[in-house]
Amino acid sequence: MAILVTGGAGYIGSHTVVELQNADYDVVVLDNLSNSSEKSLKRVERITGKPVPFYRADILDKAALDRVFEKENITAVIHFAGLKAVQESVRKPWEYYNNNITGTLTLIQSMREHGVKNIIFSSSATVYGTPAQVPVTEETPKGACTNPYGWTKSMLEQILQDIQYADREWNVILLRYFNPIGAHKSGLIGEDPSGIPNNLMPYITQVAVGKREELGVFGDDYPTPDGTCIRDYVHVMDLAAGHVKALKKIEENAGLCIYNLGTGKGSSVLEVIHSFEEATGIRIPYSVKPRREGDVPENYANVEKAYRELGWKAQCPGLKEMCADSWRWQSQNPNGYGE
Ligand code: NAD
Ligand code: UDP
Repeated sequence: MAILVTGGAGYIGSHTVVELQNADYDVVVLDNLSNSSEKSLKRVERITGKPVPFYRADILDKAALDRVFEKENITAVIHFAGLKAVQESVRKPWEYYNNNITGTLTLIQSMREHGVKNIIFSSSATVYGTPAQVPVTEETPKGACTNPYGWTKSMLEQILQDIQYADREWNVILLRYFNPIGAHKSGLIGEDPSGIPNNLMPYITQVAVGKREELGVFGDDYPTPDGTCIRDYVHVMDLAAGHVKALKKIEENAGLCIYNLGTGKGSSVLEVIHSFEEATGIRIPYSVKPRREGDVPENYANVEKAYRELGWKAQCPGLKEMCADSWRWQSQNPNGYGE
């Protein structure tokens, strides 16, 4: 019996594989390495002391998926595989809809043909659009997304809900991640974006390590206390632990469940910069730039449901520690998994 982790070589996937193996689950990873390196899995093996069976395959390749389900005794799928760069999705909508939606439909087809009807899906806080009020609960209505990436998450949530409604043998857990940052304490695995980072934390760590000159802060005239946007930054190891809890929920035949995974605390861009500086002693030069199109001023989670139903709560004490962990990874691996 094994858990198939699609996209398991990526940032959140690799950390989740560590937590799964530490919880004694057998894991099989499938990834096309379009945004990751197999080295992450070698590092996972060093951390856990266990081999990570790996298939280099695409979720669009039905025959390849079938071979994995035929060979391995898969009981559930944790589905991370997908393209995730917001701005790129605006330029390449077809690629995003095809990869994320057609890919997931192909995965689901292969799953049901092999009698596997348990899935945990990586959704995102982006499905709330611009929330009317914060913190958002799982009952907060979904909103209009501002880019094709966000729509793939929103649409896939709907597709998975409809599939579970039509066939109650399915267990579907939708995990809406807020903003994952940090890295495993070993500094062996972490976030390794290709090209210029889109997200705040990898941009900060690349400035700190000398790869970028300064950070652009996208807007300081939002209706927030310091004028910069507010997000809910959650440690990637806490997110990983949330997947182990979600698997336990699936084992109870939970049906359809939706959970926010965040800390419940919002932090502004300037607070993140200052926490990083305090945690590392490194000054981050920045200048204020125009607002980034599509940015939501404020979004953070109400996390009571995940605590009530999964017994999950973020354990990392705060931003400073998350920053220290992001920095340990970046400073030990200035070029990520590259040479
Ligand atoms: P990532 O890019 O590091 O990991 C995704 C992995 O999927 C990569 O290893 C990539 O090679 C693989 N992949 C992409 N398309 C594939 C395909 N067609 N077939 C096989 N493998 C494929 O990203 P991440 O940050 O680890 O995110 C994991 C998931 O969580 C994604 O679905 C993402 O949209 C979602 N998510 C991420 C965030 C975030 O801020 N990082 C927030 C919310 C949701
Ligand atoms: N941000 C920024 N400069 C950057 C990257 C991000 O000021 O180089 C801001 C961005 O405007 C947002 C916050 O940091 O307010 C988090 O952005 P990220 O892209 O990491 O997450 P998301 O917007 O998807 O929540």
